[in-house]
Amino acid sequence: MSSLQVPRGTFDVLPADAERRGVLEAQAKRILGAAGYGRIETPTFEATELFVRTVGEATDIVQKEMYTFDDGGGRSLTLRPEITAPVCRAYLEHGMHKLPQPVKLWYMSSNFRAEAPQRGRYRQFWQVGAEAIGSAAPEVDAELIVLLAQLLEALGAREMRLRLSSLGTAATRAEYREELAAYLRAHEDGLSPEVVARIDLNPMRAFDAGDRRTQETMRAAPLLLDRLADDDADHFARVRELLDDAGLRYVLDPRLVRGLDYYARTVFEFNSDALGAQSGVGGGGRYDGLIEQLGGAPTPGCGWAAGVERMLMAAGEVPVAPDVVDVFVAVAGGDAARTAFELANEARRAGMSAQMELAGRSLKGQLRHADRLGARYVAIIHDPMQANLKNMESGEQIDLQPAAVIPAILRGSRL
Ligand code: AMP
Repeated sequence: MSSLQVPRGTFDVLPADAERRGVLEAQAKRILGAAGYGRIETPTFEATELFVRTVGEATDIVQKEMYTFDDGGGRSLTLRPEITAPVCRAYLEHGMHKLPQPVKLWYMSSNFRAEAPQRGRYRQFWQVGAEAIGSAAPEVDAELIVLLAQLLEALGAREMRLRLSSLGTAATRAEYREELAAYLRAHEDGLSPEVVARIDLNPMRAFDAGDRRTQETMRAAPLLLDRLADDDADHFARVRELLDDAGLRYVLDPRLVRGLDYYARTVFEFNSDALGAQSGVGGGGRYDGLIEQLGGAPTPGCGWAAGVERMLMAAGEVPVAPDVVDVFVAVAGGDAARTAFELANEARRAGMSAQMELAGRSLKGQLRHADRLGARYVAIIHDPMQANLKNMESGEQIDLQPAAVIPAILRGSRL
């Protein structure tokens, strides 16, 4: 093996895997397209400032996970660690606020985060995501959640759980942050040093802490869900009602903290117990302040992103339609390759899938290879004027001219 390998935390997508991803993409297109979501693709890199301003200075992503580089012209660029901020930038840049609202967009693209690699956690990974920008209606939140649930169900994702919460608005959160920080300061003895160090920077993250002592201390901490303003509480109640009507099961998790700063009101996450430590399959929420943060007019927005690798892991086997080879063109004479090449081309132009011999096998070897490929027919070319067509299913064989091969297959000729 060469000493050159893929960079740590990355992987090659080989054909069988690419097929499964193709199935996932087709399902996403079908389900999201039917709900009015249009596909969007943004650049792989953006101005660093975009992520610093939106994802949040205190988040792990911005503090230590971004692939940031100088473009040589003194401009700082970053490989996108997430795609909501780029989509919002595009919404503003293309004046999409002038379109009928909400503007519904979806994507399937790669992200880059310099995280410690482990099963289900990579440094380049793909996400399918959906964003609805320009409406604060709770129906938007519920629709998005139902669509992700549908996608996961269509893929056959196993042992899924949905957790749901509301973070209220920025103002409520600021007030709550103070209350929580005061609680943490009063209980420093029962917290891990990392949590204590982050009290001022991001007290909410204390709920995420892994160590038992901190978890114990957090059990009695004040909860944001109990501090929501009336209209936020109403909004959340309506989202829950719609999910109930849709028959979607969820658990209320007042401790649900998403890793990004821009969320407000509804947040949710789908986890799969069929996965290991990295059980998060997809999640998102409402980000009503994000567009404004980017310099736009106050504009509500809501969306989610789900990891492609994790969805496929949760799905286990994804049924993939087998490849069909209509005709394998065998080369049986020194003079035959040119005719075989032409015939294969012509067959493809006629809408068939066709392969020709490319490895110098014996005729017997070619027939064995065609069988392995599952070819329906084998055209054996002897020279420009002479060929046989063999029906691989019935075993019948006829003599004919190479020019007559495609018409014969198209007729589905009884050989
Ligand atoms: P986030 O953008 O962090 O909310 O993540 C949304 C989804 O993307 C997660 O639920 C995962 O399925 C997936 N994801 C996030 N980070 C990674 C990663 N490093 N490797 C693979 N998938 C990831």
